[in-house]
Amino acid sequence: MKNIYILGAAGSIGRQTLEVLKENQNAFHLIGISLGNSHQLNHEILNHFSVELVCLRDSSNLRDYENKYPNIKFVIGDSGLIRLAEYPKPGILVNALSGSAGLKPTVAAIRSGKDIALANKETLVMAGEIVNQLVKEYQVKLYPIDSEHSALWQVLNGEELSSVKKIVITASGGAFRNLSREALSQVTKKDALMHPNWQMGDKITIDSATMMNKGLEVIEAHHLFGLPYDQIETILHQESMVHGLIYFIDGTIKASLSISDMKIPIAYALFYPERRAYERHLELTNLSFKPMDFQRFPLLELAYQVGKKGGLLPTVMNAANEIAVKLFLTDQISFLEIENIVIQTVNKFKNIDHPSLDQIIETDDYIQEMIRKTYEKR
Ligand code: MG
Repeated sequence: MKNIYILGAAGSIGRQTLEVLKENQNAFHLIGISLGNSHQLNHEILNHFSVELVCLRDSSNLRDYENKYPNIKFVIGDSGLIRLAEYPKPGILVNALSGSAGLKPTVAAIRSGKDIALANKETLVMAGEIVNQLVKEYQVKLYPIDSEHSALWQVLNGEELSSVKKIVITASGGAFRNLSREALSQVTKKDALMHPNWQMGDKITIDSATMMNKGLEVIEAHHLFGLPYDQIETILHQESMVHGLIYFIDGTIKASLSISDMKIPIAYALFYPERRAYERHLELTNLSFKPMDFQRFPLLELAYQVGKKGGLLPTVMNAANEIAVKLFLTDQISFLEIENIVIQTVNKFKNIDHPSLDQIIETDDYIQEMIRKTYEKR
């Protein structure tokens, strides 16, 4: 039995992770989780799994939870996430938090010797160098849960990095892939939240429509696989069946295909190096591939530039995007303003090389706060 922790257990990836655990009760022991604001969902989870430690968002209903579950220890908020990450039992910590809030708990979990199954791409975008160093220092494993990165990891298994010519990450194109840039000025939040292929949380669904998600994934791939940016390509692939391809120096291309179901990459990380049995399989149909259009998706081009420059810029881009998406989701800015805010913020920022973890976290706070103040309640 492997011990499992889940940060963000009530979110989209978190719930699918819980399903994988339910389907494989004899393989895993769920030790600790962090929950969200839906009490109904929280109770459903706590009634099904007997966990030892739970982190709640805030203390408003703490008494009720403590009375109902006397055998569970409860912790609260951001400091609670750290206590969960540091809990002194070894295991795999699934980080399924959304946004920059995921960084500190990842670092805490590595320092306490836990392996990481990472769905929170911001961890590597903001602090890839530092996290990689910590992974080495504490001799833990870092498994990707992002579908594209899981695909590339699987294709790379048993191969030498020196045999890789380039890696290719596929992009569905998101909700607006068939719209021109002109048409984008009219789109609404509801339109943006309708992803054609994947069922995901709100933030990542918007990031798919702006292609920022693919930009974050390029930076994530750079840190995960240790390849320079000119060996990481992106390609438009509407069907989301091929998730990643690797071109080898001998002319061979290997690809990883599956249905659009996050339970596959989740289970691959949790069961690694074994594979679990699963009923659902891909029916092959026509597959289409188109070169990426950087003019249509300027945030993806920005992500390449920002990734190459490194330092604090990836944190600045991520922070600007995170708060801009929040402002869009609360009807305070238009869809195209997300791009404008991110591009302007990155262009104005004076970068520094090799920032510390504290500098990264302070910059994330500062940028988000600055943009929130400028654009909120106009
Ligand atoms: Mg992905």
